[in-house]
Amino acid sequence: MVAITNFPPEESARTKSFSRLHEECIKPVKVEKMSAKAELKISIDDDGNYVEIDESGSSRQLEKAQITLNDCLACSGCVTSAESMLIAQQSHIVLRHALENASLPHELDDLSKKIVIVSISPQSRASLAAKYGLSLYDAARTLTSFFKTLGARFVFDTTFAREFSLLESQCEFVERYQRHQQDVGALPMLASACPGWICYAEKTHGKFILPYISTVQSPQQVMGQLVKSHLSKTFAISPSNIFHATIMPCFDKKLEASRQDFYRQGDETRDVDCVITSGEVMQMLSEHGLTLKDCLPHPLDSLYSTEAKDGKLIGHAGGGSGGYLEHVFRYAARELFGKNVDTVTYKTLRNKDHREVTLEMDGKVVLRFAAAYGFRNIQNLMQKIKRGKSPYHYIEVMACPSGCLNGGGQIKPEDYEVPAELLHRVEELYESAPHQELGTLPEVSHIYQEWLGGSPGSVHARSILHTQYHALEKSTSALNLKW
Ligand code: SF4
Repeated sequence: MVAITNFPPEESARTKSFSRLHEECIKPVKVEKMSAKAELKISIDDDGNYVEIDESGSSRQLEKAQITLNDCLACSGCVTSAESMLIAQQSHIVLRHALENASLPHELDDLSKKIVIVSISPQSRASLAAKYGLSLYDAARTLTSFFKTLGARFVFDTTFAREFSLLESQCEFVERYQRHQQDVGALPMLASACPGWICYAEKTHGKFILPYISTVQSPQQVMGQLVKSHLSKTFAISPSNIFHATIMPCFDKKLEASRQDFYRQGDETRDVDCVITSGEVMQMLSEHGLTLKDCLPHPLDSLYSTEAKDGKLIGHAGGGSGGYLEHVFRYAARELFGKNVDTVTYKTLRNKDHREVTLEMDGKVVLRFAAAYGFRNIQNLMQKIKRGKSPYHYIEVMACPSGCLNGGGQIKPEDYEVPAELLHRVEELYESAPHQELGTLPEVSHIYQEWLGGSPGSVHARSILHTQYHALEKSTSALNLKW
């Protein structure tokens, strides 16, 4: 039996993610066309009705709009009860339980206990830093202190894992482009770091669209490989004796961690055992009667370090969703056309979430990349690909409008805060990390040498850091048929 939740097209993925947990259907209010001059306000009356107030102060109750098939984006954002279960199984309570039972340094031989490792995404760190009025670096050190005090052995930054994800993506693109020139291989290549988008593609566009999606794992899942394969080997700890939790900006990351592709048969464990959101970290802190400012800063772990020399954390250029477009574009321009691109210049198209970047040679566009955030933009581009009308070689696809810094698991604004201003603060904090030139971290090169076949794109790196997708049957439940 499948339970369905539906969302109106105007709902942002941010709201949607929260709503998904409650399985509600939100109906928007219908606003009639108004003259350009008229100034109308909408408020909620004591009975909870939406009321329109015109310039003269007179008011009228608004009708609730009905959602029809025409409103449906067919984004497959509807959450199934099975997915709800998977999300509920990964809560901060599960992490708290793991931390309470964590193995201490002198208990490594006690196989009944697991060591706990926490990996924090840079988007969540920026959200928490904004919440508590800290710099990124101080947020990193106080989060390390908080989780270590509770029992975590290591606290990592998934920016380190993103290095691998970006390096693999740029190699994959160049190879696909070259194969495409010989009439094999599918372009545009579609970014794969967003599980909200992957879920939509598998449910809605099935076999047709999957060959276009990059096979590179997201930073969260690469971190899972580093922890459960590389670190476990380095410290001779069985992967099943590690509890690996990640802190992420959205609930969709919980579904990603639950994918069968990331389950380690034989070890009977997952690469990521539990995902909690930025908001859930805030909840954990408040359950301990703390804010991040109350935690004494702790030095960051030197293994998988993303600490720059000057007391800052490193970041990647290209925005809050990881900078896939920008890194792949620069690399492709250099490798395929011998052009060094210092500054990537974006052109905004239909809206700020649909942007384009091009490289011209002799007056001809040789590379055309796009960023498409939010389901409306994604769906338009999917239709173009299906009709063979997409002009793009690469598309950075992200389910949330404004990208990951605006994910559904980020800390919500207080009543007195303007959401756009909070998002702006989070973006500023995120961008305060100096940009790291890709591939220049010595530890990343070392790991490629010792564990991943020498270089990005090697056969061995592909077998470890890439994944596959599965077309899902569209549900034919009675509820769906009604649509
Ligand atoms: S855009 Fe980022 S935050 Fe939003 S669903 Fe995708 S991965 Fe999660």
